[in-house]
Amino acid sequence: SGVVSSYSTSSAVDNPITPSIKVDYTQLLINGNFVDSASGKTFPTYDPRTGDVIAHVSEGDAEDIDRAVSAARKAFDEGPWPRMTAYERSEVLFRFADLLDKHTEELATLETWDNGKPYEQSAKIELPMISRVIRYYAGWADKVHGLTVPADGPYHVQTINEPIGVAGQIIPWNFPLIMFAWKVGPALACGCTIVLKSAEQTPLSALLAAKLLHEAGLPPGVLNVVSGFGRTAGAALSSHMAVDKLAFTGSSATGKIVLTSAANSNLKPVTLELGGKSPFIVCKDADVDKAVELAHFALFFNQGQCCCAGSRTYVHESVYDEFIEKAKTRALKRSVGDPFKAGIEQGPQIDSTQFKKILGYIKSGVESGATLVTGGERLGNKGYYIQPTVFANVKEDMLIAQDEIFGPVQSILKFKDMDELIRRANQTRYGLAAGVFTNDLDTANTLTRALRVGTVWINCYDVFDASIPFGGYKMSGQGREKGVHCLSNYLQVKAVVTKLKNPAWM
Ligand code: NAD
Repeated sequence: SGVVSSYSTSSAVDNPITPSIKVDYTQLLINGNFVDSASGKTFPTYDPRTGDVIAHVSEGDAEDIDRAVSAARKAFDEGPWPRMTAYERSEVLFRFADLLDKHTEELATLETWDNGKPYEQSAKIELPMISRVIRYYAGWADKVHGLTVPADGPYHVQTINEPIGVAGQIIPWNFPLIMFAWKVGPALACGCTIVLKSAEQTPLSALLAAKLLHEAGLPPGVLNVVSGFGRTAGAALSSHMAVDKLAFTGSSATGKIVLTSAANSNLKPVTLELGGKSPFIVCKDADVDKAVELAHFALFFNQGQCCCAGSRTYVHESVYDEFIEKAKTRALKRSVGDPFKAGIEQGPQIDSTQFKKILGYIKSGVESGATLVTGGERLGNKGYYIQPTVFANVKEDMLIAQDEIFGPVQSILKFKDMDELIRRANQTRYGLAAGVFTNDLDTANTLTRALRVGTVWINCYDVFDASIPFGGYKMSGQGREKGVHCLSNYLQVKAVVTKLKNPAWM
C-alpha cells in the first residue's frame, strides 16, 4: 500500500534505554515499616523490554498476609485512622496527592520499567489521573454522612455510615498505580484500613506510592502492601477471617476463585472488576477517518492490555471496506518501540506468558478463517513486542471474538442492521463497556439502552474521570469503582432507633 510502517523501521526495541532512577523499595510494607518476608524469600520482577531482572522483591505468602492483616486490624480497632475527624483524613489524602505530583518522574519511570507502557503515557496521562482520583476521594472524606429516616411510630431513626473495617485489595499488572489509587482512595476516605496485594508482574510502583502515603501522614498499619503471588498471598488474603471486605481486579477466572474463597471463609462482601470483550460500533453515518482513529485507540491503548479494550470492532457494511483499509494504514503507522523513547505509542507486552498467549490467539484467528490484514508477528529479538495486528471478517463464533486477548489485536466484524447488531454485540459473557460512533441521536440512544454493559462511550473512549462509576454487567464484575458509587463498598450502614417519649410533632 506504500505505507511506511513505523515499527518495522524502529531499532529501538533492541537497544533499551537505561532508566534514570534506582529501585529503592523492594520489601513488604507492614505496620509502617519495610520488612523482609517471614520466609526470607524473594522473587524477581522483570523488564518487559528485555526479560532481564529489574530487582528482587520480598515474596509475601500466607504468614506475611497474616502479619499484615493483624497490623490493619489493630490500626482499625484501636488506631487513630477511623477515629480522627474525616477532615483530618482528607488532609492526609490531599498531601499524598501533592506528593504524587512531586514524584511523577520517579513513579512514572518505575511504572514504565516494570510494565512496559510508554513513559509519556505513565507521566502525562496516568499520574495526573492518579492524583486526581486521590483528591476526588479526599474531597469525599468529610461528605460521607447518614440520613434521618421518617419511621412509623414514636421513634427517631438515623443511619450512620461507618467504615467497613479491614479491606483486602488485590490488583492486576496492567495499570498498577491507577488500580492502587482506585482501591486505596475510597477505602481510606471512608476510614478503612487496608492490606493490598500488588500483582507479581509489577510490584514496584505500589511500594513507592505507599511510602509517599506514609510521608503524607498516614498512621502505621493503615495501609500494608504485600508483594507476592496469587495462589499464596492472594488466596490467603481472600480467605482471611479477619478481613471485612475484599476488592479484586483481574481475570474472570480468578474472580470466581476469590469470590468462592470469600464465601467459604467469613462471607466478606466482594467487589469484582473483571474482564471484557467490549464492542466498538461504527455506524453508517460515521466519519470513517475519525472512527478509525478512535477504534484504533480503543483497542491498542496500553498495548491492548485494558479490561475495557474495544476488542470487537463492529463496522456497518456501507463503510466496511474503507474502514478496513484505513485501519490497516493506521496500525502500520503505530510507533512501537522502547517505551522510554519519546513519541512511542506502544511498548512490549507485560511478560512471556501474555506474549505467548497473544501469539496463540493470533494463530487461532488465522486458523479459524479470519483475514489477517496486517501484523501478526513478534517484533525484534528480545522482550515481548508484538506487531499491531488487525483481523477482518471476524465472526462471533471465533475464539478471537469471544476471549479477552489482552494484546494489540484488533478484530473487525461487519454488520448490516441494528437489531442484528444489538443481538451480536450482546452475544458475549462479558458486559464491561461499549463504544458507539455516530452523529445520530436516535441510534446513540437505542444502542445505549440496548447494550448490556456498565459504560457506554459515545464518540469517545476510555474516559476515566474520577467521578464516573466504572464496573461490569454479567461476567465483567460486581459493584462499581470510582465516583460516589464506590464509597458504599467501604461503608456499613448502621440504623439507630431511639424511642421517643412523645410521638413526632407533639
Ligand atoms: P489474574 O486475575 O490471575 O491476576 C490478577 C491478580 O489476582 C494478581 O494480583 C494475582 O496475583 C491475583 N491472583 C491470582 N490468582 C489468585 C488467587 N487464586 N487468589 C487470589 N488472588 C489471585 O490475571 P493474570 O493472570 O495476571 O492475567 C490473566 C488474564 O486476566 C489476562 O490475560 C487478561 O485477560 C485478564 N486481566 C484482566 C484485567 C482487568 O483489568 N480486568 C487485568 C489483568 C488481567
